[in-house]
Amino acid sequence: MPAIRLFDTAAGREVVLESGPRASMYVCGITPYDATHMGHAASYVAFDLLNRAWRDAGQDVSYVQNVTDVDDPLLERATATNVDWQELAQSQIELFQTDMEALNVLSPDHYVGAVESIDLIVPEVERLVSQGLAYRVPGTNGEPDGDVYYDVEAAGKQSVAPDAWSLGSISGLSESEMLELFAERGGDPGRAGKRQALDPLLWRVARDGEPHWPGGSLGDGRPGWHIECTVIAQKYLPAPFTVQGGGSDLIFPHHEMGAGHAYSLAGVPLAKHYAHAGMVGLDGEKMSKSKGNLVLVSRLRAAGEDPAAIRLAILAHHYRSDWSWTDEGFAAAKADLASWRRALDHAPESSAAPLLDEMRAALAADLDAPAAVAAVSRWARRANDGGTPASAADQALVRDAVDALLGIRL
Ligand code: ZN
Repeated sequence: MPAIRLFDTAAGREVVLESGPRASMYVCGITPYDATHMGHAASYVAFDLLNRAWRDAGQDVSYVQNVTDVDDPLLERATATNVDWQELAQSQIELFQTDMEALNVLSPDHYVGAVESIDLIVPEVERLVSQGLAYRVPGTNGEPDGDVYYDVEAAGKQSVAPDAWSLGSISGLSESEMLELFAERGGDPGRAGKRQALDPLLWRVARDGEPHWPGGSLGDGRPGWHIECTVIAQKYLPAPFTVQGGGSDLIFPHHEMGAGHAYSLAGVPLAKHYAHAGMVGLDGEKMSKSKGNLVLVSRLRAAGEDPAAIRLAILAHHYRSDWSWTDEGFAAAKADLASWRRALDHAPESSAAPLLDEMRAALAADLDAPAAVAAVSRWARRANDGGTPASAADQALVRDAVDALLGIRL
């Protein structure tokens, strides 16, 4: 595997990842209220490619993923469908993990829930309060006293070190862009009593009818989403770890704020690099529960579709591009997979090593899976055309390489 280059959102360009003995990655997990849709699947497959590329390069990989097993959307869905929120979360986590296994996504070393991490999160929020980087908001408009918010302005001034965080360090967005996204993605810019509209929630004190846990000096409540990921990452990974990953809808506010929390708590960046996968639509439209156009991995599997073909349909698109799931694309992936499988029996002598080189070069170039897929398809056409003696050694190497690098089992 050549040196791996990856597009770093915070740097705004491709960077060469260090080739040390150990790489580390945190990929933000699901909030378990909707089964795995194609957008989730594409994002986890993207970072699975990085995991596999690192392993192929001989690096050990520490991989951590969270699951936001208590949060507003989960509670709202549970109420709307009259299901116990814990049962909803548990069933969706199981479905997600089954989908990931079917898609041959390598498991994280640590898969950590928000609820089980509350004892770790509380002292960190208390520390931010004592540092003057977080504050309690008084109750107004029916909200109780005491929700704790992160002071983005104070935090941005805490250090002038070159690697210090300030608002915009990760996303590079203007304030007006941030305000728009903040409101769209779970933030509460209009909450009365906040010092700055963009200050994110760290601790939500208990409300009637909502689950809550002991919060020490903060009072009973539950944690905000950004601090959840930050504390879990800091607990299980080195500081800074190599790559934080997620969908491009996590750049702001989630990764921006998480990077701020981490710098405030540790005085070093959370991650060296931030990488983001594109969004997946359906037939050119944004995929969303409200539009009723979610393509679910579990539903395709239940219909008897081969998970390897689903994965190959995802790999046909570069992970950073926004793309649409279509019947034509899926049909093309199924045809490619059948062609690859047929080709194995005719693997031309001495063809596997050059193919392996091509696949490695493609993945090292910002995880260019479409180029790697095209290389395998060219190889398969040549094999299926016949004319060259077949070789068992080449057959075995191609099968291993396609599984190890692309996660496609032939
Ligand atoms: Zn996260």
